Amino acid sequence: MSGAHDGTETTVVVVEDDHHISDLVALYLRGDGFRVLQAGDAEAGLAMVEREQPALVILDVGLPGGRDGLEACRALRATSTVPVIMLTARDEEIDRVLGLELGADDYVTKPFSPRELLARVRALLRRAALGADQGGPAPAVHVVGALEVDTGRREVRSPSGVVGLTTREFDLLAYLAANRGLALSRRQLLDGVWGAGWYGDERTVDVHVRQLRKKLGDLLPLSTVWGVGYRLG
Ligand code: CA
Repeated sequence: MSGAHDGTETTVVVVEDDHHISDLVALYLRGDGFRVLQAGDAEAGLAMVEREQPALVILDVGLPGGRDGLEACRALRATSTVPVIMLTARDEEIDRVLGLELGADDYVTKPFSPRELLARVRALLRRAALGADQGGPAPAVHVVGALEVDTGRREVRSPSGVVGLTTREFDLLAYLAANRGLALSRRQLLDGVWGAGWYGDERTVDVHVRQLRKKLGDLLPLSTVWGVGYRLG
């Protein structure tokens, strides 16, 4: 998947104004075979993403100038479903990342170990890669009401066309669709979608559910099961 091993290069854009952190992240990712491009503020980062079409973006919340990382993420999501990992420095930033429904796919809290970040990058790219799910279930098209959830093409189709979802939103919907009719706890969803090694907060599930509801509206037959979690269909 990552670069040098198979002769192709996977590009990652790192948007972070702290040179020490940015260089450390770049060093680790390059060591793993990625092509890494660095930007120091939101404007440069957004332009770089548009120009380079990277496979993944690492975006710091605290950026100088007009737009911080949260606003940059929102701007990015208006035009792109590229996987995004946010870097956050403080608890209140985590609350904002989760609460603002920006469409980030994951976040890492500073100080983080580069090894952990690299693991997140690889996990997210593995999920995002078309057809790279060789160890997982065979591709399927789940029909959920008027929606088709196509795990082979990683595409959700509504009567009015393809719905743009982020990597995590798609994975969550596909997991719910594969377990239609079952009430799933937030922990089960975290383990099933984010992976058992993911240390995130259960609120993350709620944030992604809200995004799915916002994007799919009445087409999504998803119920909240009080005291448990969620059930599709
Ligand atoms: Ca920063």
